[in-house]
Amino acid sequence: MSKSRKNKYNLSRYIPSSVKEKIRRDAGYGCVFCGCILVEYEHIDPEYHNAKEHDPDKMTLLCPMCHDKVTKKLLSKKKVWEAKKSPKAFDDGYVSDTLMVATESLDLLMGSARTTMMAVAINLYGKPLFWFEPSDDDDNYKICCIFYGAEGKPIAYINRNEYIALVGKQDIVSKGVSLTIADKKYGVLLELSREGDQPLHIKRLFTQLYSTKVVISGENSAVSFGDIKTPNEQLGGISGLTLAGQGYSPNGVQTALGLGGVPQESFLSIVYGAMQISRFGKPILRFDGSITGWVLGNRIVNKAYRSVGILSHGKAYSIAGEYVADYIGNQLLHSNDQYESGEPIYIIHNDRCSRNTKSNQGYDLSYRFG
Ligand SMILES: [Zn+2]
Repeated sequence: MSKSRKNKYNLSRYIPSSVKEKIRRDAGYGCVFCGCILVEYEHIDPEYHNAKEHDPDKMTLLCPMCHDKVTKKLLSKKKVWEAKKSPKAFDDGYVSDTLMVATESLDLLMGSARTTMMAVAINLYGKPLFWFEPSDDDDNYKICCIFYGAEGKPIAYINRNEYIALVGKQDIVSKGVSLTIADKKYGVLLELSREGDQPLHIKRLFTQLYSTKVVISGENSAVSFGDIKTPNEQLGGISGLTLAGQGYSPNGVQTALGLGGVPQESFLSIVYGAMQISRFGKPILRFDGSITGWVLGNRIVNKAYRSVGILSHGKAYSIAGEYVADYIGNQLLHSNDQYESGEPIYIIHNDRCSRNTKSNQGYDLSYRFG
């Protein structure tokens, strides 16, 4: 292939960003065949060397592997046109990629802060958002992250090292080692650096859950957090420091940054609550058999007699209305370590270890109602 910057029609290899944006949007931000986020911009027909312009209607996104198959004619142009019309990402609702970042230690960079040997880096309202999990296969760890964008809507997950960006209104760009999700209204919601064998670095972040936001505005910036209504420059934060823990130890896991408690509302007075619960409450058991709260009518009540969840048709929801787990045999369980959306679920380490000896299959998520 010619290394010239232009083809015979004097068309530069440079594709204007507005054209690229339309191609990304039309393709669902990933390879139209496989949904991989690592993509190149391809002229379908005419090919680049015969093209007179960068026409987004005649171009699409292909990953290097699928592109190679097209070049070798293992995949026909007809199939490329078909895939352009109905990209994989729109069927799946997400685009994905596997991260090859360093996972032999528990290091995570967030702006100018670093957490090391901390199993959970950020916990918001009793829900771990960034954490490491020991791998079943080897001595390494796996990274899990839940990224909420503006207004508490999930935009991306890292589910055991698999990066999953949800296809919605945001622009998703993979360029070199950097992955970015940007919103027209809120700007960059997430920028990750995923250089091989380096710790994952979250360089920019705007995450909102309920009334709290966590903001990172650059690789040398603090991790700032506070009420959603507080201007970013007035938020408190941590910067330029390393939060070091002990990794996975028999004493449990450590959390670097925990913000807000489990969402709850007052429900009954303590005296009346104690009475009601002693008469009508059904205990909720943790995986180790201890009592963590009660079910009273359709309410999940914690030990402080506050309402922390709602039961409906055998399913347990947080006060904010988020589905968490199923109510099965006095336990709050989920059958799997992820939700259908691809969102990873934090599993208590000892619960995972004792999984095969349990009577009820599933993972204990009662910690979300603590
Ligand atoms: Zn592909």
